[in-house]
Amino acid sequence: CGIVGIIGDKNVQEVLINGLERLEYRGYDSAGIFLLNHEEDNFQLTKEVGRIEALKAKVDFTFPAEVGIGHTRWATHGPATLDNAHPHTSPNGRFVLVHNGVIENYNELRQAYLENTPIQSNTDTEIVVALIENFVENDHLSTQDAFQKALSLIEGSYAFGLIDKENSDVLYAAKNKSPLLVGKGDGFNAITSDAMATIDLTHEYIEIKDKEIIVLKEDAVTITNLQGESVQRDPYVAELDP
Ligand code: GLU
Repeated sequence: CGIVGIIGDKNVQEVLINGLERLEYRGYDSAGIFLLNHEEDNFQLTKEVGRIEALKAKVDFTFPAEVGIGHTRWATHGPATLDNAHPHTSPNGRFVLVHNGVIENYNELRQAYLENTPIQSNTDTEIVVALIENFVENDHLSTQDAFQKALSLIEGSYAFGLIDKENSDVLYAAKNKSPLLVGKGDGFNAITSDAMATIDLTHEYIEIKDKEIIVLKEDAVTITNLQGESVQRDPYVAELDP
């Protein structure tokens, strides 16, 4: 299972599909990508059970995406079906999430916050994206604060990539006990489970520590800890043979 995400001046679909192919070694049973540009409702969600090759055949490489996330799934909650494949969309459609890992208290969170919220899949992941939307709509939080609130409630392991359809200039990420790195570029920034998946794009990476919130824009990366303090961390150079 693995995650790739990118924002900025690149062919987003190529980066995602090449990256997912490079993450195939981690094992998976289904895969998907989500693409967005700034025009309202201008997005594409493509999922497929089985090979990345089959997903690639369904993707529109001409769509002018500004930001995107991709995922290979190793099912832990619910079988390997199209409905359970990631990315997952929030009930009212605003937020889109990819996740590697296991949310241990997803049932408790569902009972506490989402009693009347329709959930489409069997996954623990969909509960998280529904929670984020719930906190934005009902608590009137910003996306970042809603994400932070969700992280403070979640127990378990995760690498997340999150997109807000109302803001194509931002890609959000966080991790806990699952691998995730920031790839720093010139005119773009990326997230990846393994530097190998994006090594053709950049050799500069920033480590993410558990439970930090990462906000990526095409020309900036900011890191905030769970206490809301901003964190400075220099990139390192990854030397890998592509
Ligand atoms: N627990 C999530 C699911 O079953 C994520 C699995 C993964 O790490 O790929 O969909």
